Amino acid sequence: MTEFAENTTARVGGSAGEWIIARTEEEALAVLQQHPLPTQEQRAAGQDSLLVLGGGSNLLVSDAGFGGTVLQLAFTGISAELSPDTAVVTVAAGANWDRTVAWTVDHGCSGLEALSGIPGSAGATPVQNVGAYGADVSQTLLDIRAWDRAAGELITLEAEQLEFGYRNSLLKRTTLSGSPRYVVLSVRFALEHRGEETLSAPVRYGELARSLGLEANAAEDERRAPLQDVRAKVLALRAGKGMVLDDADPDTYSTGSFFTNPIVPASAAAGLPEGAPRFPAGQGESGEELVKLSAAWLIDQSGCAKGFGAELTGGRASLSTKHTLAVTNRGTASAEDLLTVARAARDAVKERFGVELRPEPVLLGCTL
Ligand SMILES: Cc1cc2nc3c(=O)[nH]c(=O)nc-3n(C[C@H](O)[C@H](O)[C@H](O)COP(=O)(O)OP(=O)(O)OC[C@H]3O[C@@H](n4cnc5c(N)ncnc54)[C@H](O)[C@@H]3O)c2cc1C
Repeated sequence: MTEFAENTTARVGGSAGEWIIARTEEEALAVLQQHPLPTQEQRAAGQDSLLVLGGGSNLLVSDAGFGGTVLQLAFTGISAELSPDTAVVTVAAGANWDRTVAWTVDHGCSGLEALSGIPGSAGATPVQNVGAYGADVSQTLLDIRAWDRAAGELITLEAEQLEFGYRNSLLKRTTLSGSPRYVVLSVRFALEHRGEETLSAPVRYGELARSLGLEANAAEDERRAPLQDVRAKVLALRAGKGMVLDDADPDTYSTGSFFTNPIVPASAAAGLPEGAPRFPAGQGESGEELVKLSAAWLIDQSGCAKGFGAELTGGRASLSTKHTLAVTNRGTASAEDLLTVARAARDAVKERFGVELRPEPVLLGCTL
């Protein structure tokens, strides 16, 4: 029987009632047509009989598993329409994301290189507006083709309609307890394309800019570097934090960041110690300035250092030994072990700073 433990990067979770691997879009559509969107109440209660799965890198499934049907999107394919300065790149939902980025870099297309090394599928990237090193997919995404389970039809949604935010989108907001209304079938990106001359998009992240020998505060056009260099640096920086999948490294047996960086009113951030990282995050509905905090810093400063939690789980799970934001399986953890570590870190931050941390991965059959 197929287990989530074998198909998710956190390597935990029980089995599913049925496991279908769709190798073509047609196969996926045939399954989707049999699984219309359940009622709001059923979805909120986790009673959707269908789970859409990509690479399993943002999913934590309970040890009891999932009684319904898993539809794993495994159809791949990438193509580009080139014009003198731009390339419109179409990627099938099941394509591996990092291979997609590598393809664009190899073909002299810029805009995705800072997103190198993120695990999972291309189809999942718009769901939480995947991002890293000052970039996210909303910056280059043109549109998606999706199956709307409510209307029972194929639709195209343009970038503006996806209402992207920080680790958020319409796709995520209309997903309840792992039950999505829209199932992404393909994604189109509008990238810069100047052949071998193409430089990266402006580097927006200080640590990355410095590692490339760029001046972090220079004008946008002076913060571009050769595409392959940006990709190589991003992969190296990520590997140093356990953020590139590696079978030999249990620090990568995780869902990546377990918590999103909290966005709080400026007044709430004012009480934090001076050294607390904070970044402007726009305005709230009442007009108050919002500030994005660093979840990793808050966890670390709450007494949960790298490696924290091993003592709570008999050594089976802990925070990564490279990064406090990843909850990792040291090899034999259960989903409950990972949740034990995550709860302890969340509670420590709440007690020390009064800030509520929220999980980034989708939790199925379990709660934090
Ligand atoms: C080591 C590591 C590092 C990571 N680093 C980053 C990072 O830097 N930045 C970042 O943003 N994320 C990061 N992540 C999180 C994760 O890689 C991304 O969220 C990724 O996009 C998830 O893709 P997936 O195919 O694995 O999704 P899955 O885990 O398979 O699914 C996640 C959710 O998306 C839904 N979903 C999947 N495919 C589709 C689809 N085609 N249509 C509709 N819904 C769908 C699923 O139903 C589920 O609810 C990291 C994870 C790991 C393990």
